[in-house]
Amino acid sequence: MPSEFELIDRYFRRPTHHTVRGVGDDGAIVQPTPGMELVISTDMLVAGTHFLPNADPADLGWKTLAVNVSDMAAMGAAPRWALLAAALPAATETWIAAFANSFFACADAFGIDVVGGDTTKGPRNFCVTIFGEVPQGQALLRSGAQPGDEIWVSGQPGLAALGLAHVQGRRTLEEPALTACLAALHRPQPRVALGLALRGIATAAIDVSDGLLADLGHILDESKTAAVVHFERLPGLALAFGDDSELARDCLLAGGDDYELVFTAPASRHAEIEALAAALPLALTCIGSIEAGAAGELRLLENGRPLEQRRRGFDHFGA
Ligand code: ADP
Ligand code: MG
Repeated sequence: MPSEFELIDRYFRRPTHHTVRGVGDDGAIVQPTPGMELVISTDMLVAGTHFLPNADPADLGWKTLAVNVSDMAAMGAAPRWALLAAALPAATETWIAAFANSFFACADAFGIDVVGGDTTKGPRNFCVTIFGEVPQGQALLRSGAQPGDEIWVSGQPGLAALGLAHVQGRRTLEEPALTACLAALHRPQPRVALGLALRGIATAAIDVSDGLLADLGHILDESKTAAVVHFERLPGLALAFGDDSELARDCLLAGGDDYELVFTAPASRHAEIEALAAALPLALTCIGSIEAGAAGELRLLENGRPLEQRRRGFDHFGA
């Protein structure tokens, strides 16, 4: 059995690229770029809550960092540094190696230096703290949406929740939906390039971790505005896979874990955003608009008629 320090040295101490002092001291030292603000966020993944106990360590390593990178994307920040606090039930080296390799693959993919962390024995649990940079005053907040703005969503929301339904045996998916949904669930792709490009364009942004309606609701709450969403404009799973089931609709509107971005922008920027979609390339769909009205009020219409949708998203302590 390797010791705690052998584990850290073997699997979590890797070369850094823009760090004064990384793993190996009591604290890391970093030098922020002059003129930039630091954006800081933390997210925890707990066995049994965020992943199944038998989850593939390679999937988990990627996802543990990717969900944190997604928060940087939603802020319009460039991810720069991360710390990993890990509780592990045992020092099983094959498991830890697979986890660490894909954790660092995600770090490399997004230019992140892993500069420290903590390693303890305990029920499997991973907590990442991430630091990103954004030019002063240019971060994308949840609070900037204005009546008249359009509401946009990236990619195809709903895939991860549909993948989870398959993994949990509530649904049996066929190809090509199966591969797409499992990839979305296990290897989410944080929309960093989109977040950076939206600086100066978007008035508000959030990443979809709990559900499209729930997360859009957070923008409405923070911006103290109302909104209308047109269901038929959404990039539907019916279009993608011919799946118009009740479950697919629920996954689309309220499924979590997609890590797509929902953002608002003035209608005058519509053509610019379409050009951005082509340049990235990444589907960007205009699904509704911000309206004057009661803070947080969200009207969901289908072809102009109110659409009943009770569930908005995932809540750890909700019903
Ligand atoms: P301390 O006793 O001062 O808390 P530790 O023994 O916990 O230090 O950690 C030693 C070094 O290894 C520190 O630089 C710490 O940031 C780093 N470290 C510990 N665990 C991890 C990990 N899972 N990933 C990255 N760095 C880690
Ligand atoms: Mg420590």
